[in-house]
Amino acid sequence: MQAPHKEHLYKLLVIGDLGVGKTSIIKRYVHQNFSSHYRATIGVDFALKVLHWDPETVVRLQLWDIAGQERFGNMTRVYYREAMGAFIVFDVTRPATFEAVTKWKNDLDSKLTLPNGKPVSVVLLANKCDQGKDMLMNNGLKMDQFCKEHGFVGWFETSAKENINIDEASRCLVKHILANE
Ligand code: GDP
Ligand code: MG
Repeated sequence: MQAPHKEHLYKLLVIGDLGVGKTSIIKRYVHQNFSSHYRATIGVDFALKVLHWDPETVVRLQLWDIAGQERFGNMTRVYYREAMGAFIVFDVTRPATFEAVTKWKNDLDSKLTLPNGKPVSVVLLANKCDQGKDMLMNNGLKMDQFCKEHGFVGWFETSAKENINIDEASRCLVKHILANE
């Protein structure tokens, strides 16, 4: 007899201010590459990543990249629709992008809930950690507290450039989504 086979398809959003590294994180995660040449994303874009989660479970992630509208600081309900989780990204070298994190979280929670009425799982990414750890990054406790207060399921220091913690952050998000279903 064949082992039971489960397949999941999840739409995941990657949001946060312009230039924090959203496109780079997706590229690193899905295509295993990085470019320091900056090109703003134009048009709606998404990439697919397949995870062999366990011997019985395949998880397909559809990662949605923001297409330049992040300059307005919010997205439409249509864009968020049917997402199962999100990464909210900030740039550790630019404090203003961290201040925008709660704004992004509120925008998401006000426009999207899961079919069961719960808020979607969101993981916070402190990106460009290869650039040095100034500001609040020295204080993991403070970040844990911040995540608790604002309803993030976890946070990771990431680098799309050095490929740090992106797989870990994704596993954390998927684990919470699977547990929520
Ligand atoms: P987006 O506007 O949020 O999609 O940001 P991009 O992915 O386009 O990245 C903006 C700029 O930051 C680009 O020049 C990237 O090469 C750079 N960048 C992105 N991630 C990292 C990182 O982890 N470390 C460093 N040093 N630079 C990064
Ligand atoms: Mg982009």
